[in-house]
Amino acid sequence: MTVLDKLAAASSNPYWSTTVGDSTACPPPASDVACDLAIIGGGFTGLWSALKARERYPDARIVVLESGKCGHAASGRNGGFCAPSISHGVSNALARWPREAETLIRLGRENLEALAQDLDAFEIDCDFELAGKLNVAATPWQINGLRAMAQNYNRFGIDNTLLEGEAFRKKLDSPTYMAGLFEPNYGLVNPGKLVAGLRKCCLARGVAIHEYTLVTALRATEQAIVLRTQDATITAKKTILATNAARPLLKRLRTAIIPVYDYSLVTEPLSEEQFTSIGWTGSHGVADSGNQFHYARKTADNRVLWAGFDAIYHYGSNCDPSLLQRPETFKLLAQQFAQSFPTLANIRFDFKWGGIIDTSARTTFFSGTACKGRLTYAMGFTGQGVSASRFAALTMLDLLEGAHTERTELMMLRRRPPPFPPEPLRAVIVSMAQKRLAHEDRTGHRPLLLRTLDAFGIGFDS
Ligand SMILES: Cc1cc2nc3c(=O)[nH]c(=O)nc-3n(C[C@H](O)[C@H](O)[C@H](O)COP(=O)(O)OP(=O)(O)OC[C@H]3O[C@@H](n4cnc5c(N)ncnc54)[C@H](O)[C@@H]3O)c2cc1C
Repeated sequence: MTVLDKLAAASSNPYWSTTVGDSTACPPPASDVACDLAIIGGGFTGLWSALKARERYPDARIVVLESGKCGHAASGRNGGFCAPSISHGVSNALARWPREAETLIRLGRENLEALAQDLDAFEIDCDFELAGKLNVAATPWQINGLRAMAQNYNRFGIDNTLLEGEAFRKKLDSPTYMAGLFEPNYGLVNPGKLVAGLRKCCLARGVAIHEYTLVTALRATEQAIVLRTQDATITAKKTILATNAARPLLKRLRTAIIPVYDYSLVTEPLSEEQFTSIGWTGSHGVADSGNQFHYARKTADNRVLWAGFDAIYHYGSNCDPSLLQRPETFKLLAQQFAQSFPTLANIRFDFKWGGIIDTSARTTFFSGTACKGRLTYAMGFTGQGVSASRFAALTMLDLLEGAHTERTELMMLRRRPPPFPPEPLRAVIVSMAQKRLAHEDRTGHRPLLLRTLDAFGIGFDS
């Protein structure tokens, strides 16, 4: 079977969308609206914000304005890895915020625990499981990287096991990978079910959701924030901007993130024998350690999601819906899957789709206020927002209250990441950085450009 044969029947819808029943869209506002809190964006960040706001303010008029259907963007298109981290991992925290790394690491773990408790309390069934993550190495220098990672984990009391030889092959048996670091306290969710569950909880608690409602303009007055949609004006005492990779409505945020496309395949359902043939008998997720990395996980109906590697930036931060499909990346992913798992070389792929990552130069989200404290925002999750979006929501609610909490004082959130330069320099720098990241993956040597960016605390990742 050729690669193209294997992809021929694949649907271009995200697999996750097929695991949730159709729900009737919530219509746009029929007339002008006045509310206490308007939330722009109906992904994880916006919906957690609405739900947590409802807990704090039982009588408030809370409105979510979403340009598509809730979860149609990154929140319904991701891998569902639910990290015990708000800082894009331990090494990133240590490299960029050494003085607050310990706090960031603790808050990340606490956030995952609290998220699991929230799922129970709100009765959101999204196949959440503390399934663990196997970080795998494909080269000797990546094994050294895993050893360094283990040392950092041990320093902060994070459970981990370095696996080599037979012990590794019992977790994953692949000619591509040589060793792995297993971390048991890492969650996996079905993101489609999570976003649908959050939406349902919001509606059940009297949050007004308006879908297919694009906010086109935002203006501050002395008493309120005024939002324009196609047909209505929304006047809100406070506003949350949870628009992720979309062009921010607030001008000052426009250079802080760039949209980067990431792609996924999902296989046909596999048998127990097929999983045994690749040593993958547990329910853990897998992610390789390169700069251009794959991530893989099982689904509840025994498929494999295989994703990542290419991270595609389009000139001018272009975000056209047609870019959510990229045949050359799907072909490459299918070829790499066959190389990594030769016993599965002939399996078919049933789904292929892409999503947009809001990449920030520090690879973590940032937050802050504008319009005299009436507006707050959180964005820049850079491929690790499934769990961090909950933390971001709580931070934004603290900020709107003008409260000083452990969350609001974090340097990680308060300092905006270094800006991306305007075009054409932006595209040139992204392309130069990507070429050098690939070079490092091939050779184990970090080129001068990347070391220079490191020195300024600037990174590029998806
Ligand atoms: C392919 C892919 C794989 C990923 N894998 C993982 C993973 O395994 N683990 C992980 O932790 N993270 C992962 N991520 C990142 C994660 O999905 C995001 O960080 C997270 O979903 C962000 O949630 P959000 O609500 O901020 O953004 P979104 O889900 O993108 O929601 C933002 C919403 O705002 C709406 N919007 C934008 N502008 C307007 C406007 N003007 N008016 C009205 N509505 C507007 C959009 O329509 C959108 O629905 C991945 C992302 C992608 C794309």
